[in-house]
Amino acid sequence: MPSSRPLRARIHLDAIRHNYRYAKQLAPHSKALAVVKANAYGHGAIAVAQALADCADGFAVACIDEAMELREAGITQPIVLLEGVFHANELALVDRAGLSVVIHCQEQLAWLLAARPTQQFNCWIKIDSGMHRVGFAPSDFNRVYAELRACPHVGELVAISHFARADEPNLPYTTQQIAVFEQALSGLIIPRSLANSAAILAFPNAHAEWIRPGLMLYGASPFAEAQPLAMALRPAMTLESALISVRNLPAGEPVGYGGSFVCERPTRVGVVAIGYADGYPRHAPTGTPVAVNGQVTRLLGRVSMDMITVDLTGIIDANVGATVELWGTIIAANAVAAASATLAYQLFTGIGRRVAHCY
Ligand SMILES: *Cc1c(COP(=O)(O)O)cnc(C)c1O
Repeated sequence: MPSSRPLRARIHLDAIRHNYRYAKQLAPHSKALAVVKANAYGHGAIAVAQALADCADGFAVACIDEAMELREAGITQPIVLLEGVFHANELALVDRAGLSVVIHCQEQLAWLLAARPTQQFNCWIKIDSGMHRVGFAPSDFNRVYAELRACPHVGELVAISHFARADEPNLPYTTQQIAVFEQALSGLIIPRSLANSAAILAFPNAHAEWIRPGLMLYGASPFAEAQPLAMALRPAMTLESALISVRNLPAGEPVGYGGSFVCERPTRVGVVAIGYADGYPRHAPTGTPVAVNGQVTRLLGRVSMDMITVDLTGIIDANVGATVELWGTIIAANAVAAASATLAYQLFTGIGRRVAHCY
């Protein structure tokens, strides 16, 4: 449904292609699964996968519906279900669509061994090296590997694990996870996959045979602090809207719900068509950066469902219709996230249904 509301997410597919190639350049001996779960972090899974189809080694998604959407759109590369299947009856579809499955628990292992597929399953054996969410205990790896290897309808095997704290590169935890993982494999020659975006950027010793870039594909740094290698990423989403009203308020007048902001001086205030129902974080406080006509200014007062208010002091040509960037190339999504005590991950995946995507 075309909307007359000026709000849209401009998706820069060339930036995503650049970021994918950059991940591969950082890990020149690894293949890369482009992580496109959650509608490619809000960027549009089909468009992103098609933009990467000529260069990606494979894709990763969270569930079978996300995988089927890509197969139906003509994606032929390997697609890995990062959480495997949630029920044995999904394995028929896994077989038909030629998907690869993570096996992270005993139940999934039993379902897979009992299945009677028409072709072999490629399985990614998940080891819990310290995240303590899903995965087999390191001491179970040899047994699980042996059962899968002995099964005639099992094809390629990959050992996979996930980092809990790779975005804190000065801590020893990631290095410890790598050691736990390697020890579980006890020298076995098997393709391995460990690195999310943060580890691709900060832990070259975790690159192994398959990297799994997610957030970095979309151009946001996974680190809270500046990191030199993350500076080369290109933001892939510009969330923009426009001023729909402008008013001059005298000092002492409150703005918006709760009167949480009171004008310190006579203030030119702009109203922007975006709110928390569109995915703009409701907890963004006064002072959160926003750009009007390409000039950086600040949010004022509370975020409403459909509107926000911004300070137009000193902004040239700030009239109704002026373009407002909420995040993108001028305002880093991470800056909005940091001000709002959340992450760029949540901002991207929280983009609302009313936001049109333009490619
Ligand atoms: C989401 C996910 C990734 C990608 O993580 P980023 O931090 O976005 O790079 C990698 N591996 C697994 C298992 C995931 O669930």
